[in-house]
Amino acid sequence: MRVGIGFDAHRFARGRRLVLGGVEIPHPVGLAGHSDADVLLHAICDAILGALALGDIGAHFPDRDPALRGISSAELLRRTARLARDRGWRVANVDATVILEEPKIGPHVPAMRAAIARALGCGEEAVGVKATTTEGMGFCGRGEGIAAAAVAALAEAPSADSPGPERRGA
Ligand code: MG
Repeated sequence: MRVGIGFDAHRFARGRRLVLGGVEIPHPVGLAGHSDADVLLHAICDAILGALALGDIGAHFPDRDPALRGISSAELLRRTARLARDRGWRVANVDATVILEEPKIGPHVPAMRAAIARALGCGEEAVGVKATTTEGMGFCGRGEGIAAAAVAALAEAPSADSPGPERRGA
């Protein structure tokens, strides 16, 4: 097994859609960012990259790359899961906490889990999404933005052409 941790934060911005966990949520403001600014999916990408010891999301998907401007973070998550598969790992489970005061995401969590599972190629039962406030403290508490933290566990995914991580090429 491998485990990784990820964290991200984005500030609110007018004139932007709010996309969280691959789901567009009706809200007067969205999040600023080069991509769709899906802070939850970015934290999950970093958790997977961390488990692979492959650096961070900025190294793989730089925010100066014009080709990635406005890209769906679900696509970034799909590409990240492919990096794991190509190295002989599959995502065993992910768990994440979104830190925000508003909006309430509870009603959207089932759709988020489904979107994340689709991008990862795993079952929804392997995807946890939770939310918390910070009781008014800090930048999330003041409603300046949204943060997310995630962990990912990867398991070996042996196949005919890929005998599994570390043993490859032995
Ligand atoms: Mg980000």
